[in-house]
Amino acid sequence: MARRTIARLGEPIVRQRAVEVDRRSLDTPALAHLIEDMIDTMRAENGVGLAAPQIRESVRIVVIEANKNPRYPQFPSIPLRVLINPIVTPASGSSTLPPRDSISIYEGCLSVPGMRGRVVRPRSVRVQALDAEGKTIDEQWEGIAAAIIQHETDHLDGTLFVDRADPRTFCFSEEYEQYVPAALRVVDGSEEDTPRTEDA
Ligand code: ZN
Repeated sequence: MARRTIARLGEPIVRQRAVEVDRRSLDTPALAHLIEDMIDTMRAENGVGLAAPQIRESVRIVVIEANKNPRYPQFPSIPLRVLINPIVTPASGSSTLPPRDSISIYEGCLSVPGMRGRVVRPRSVRVQALDAEGKTIDEQWEGIAAAIIQHETDHLDGTLFVDRADPRTFCFSEEYEQYVPAALRVVDGSEEDTPRTEDA
């Protein structure tokens, strides 16, 4: 087990399309070792997810976990997941996303340290993948977990959140902490439909 260093924006590997994991390599020590290193690195860096290219392995594997994360204190607890060859499909097929079907988060990225920017994504996605044992995963993910898996699978295609963020929302972490109101940091469209009662 080992913590690895993170490839940052500008290093070519973070812009490359990662290759599928061959089913025959699923049971190998090398793959188990890589997944362990990804989990160790994600936890050591306070990430809520990590894609293999971020530790310079250009293969389609992501790990996700959230638990009282200091970088994203408002995130719910998400148990550790390992997803191999993930395919993420938005539930809503339309190209225009009604607010109620979207989630907007001031995202950050271990490969873009010290910056945040607001990204709007579909809030409900179908997630198909293999787990670490090679078992098939086919689930519907909602809300923050859906946003995280989209951020991570983007990495496998060389796409970073900076490509999707509204450029006028880009900010440094310190300014984010100081100036972005808590209510704007995560806006889950499904919750906007419920009447607000906090003014009462
Ligand atoms: Zn990232």
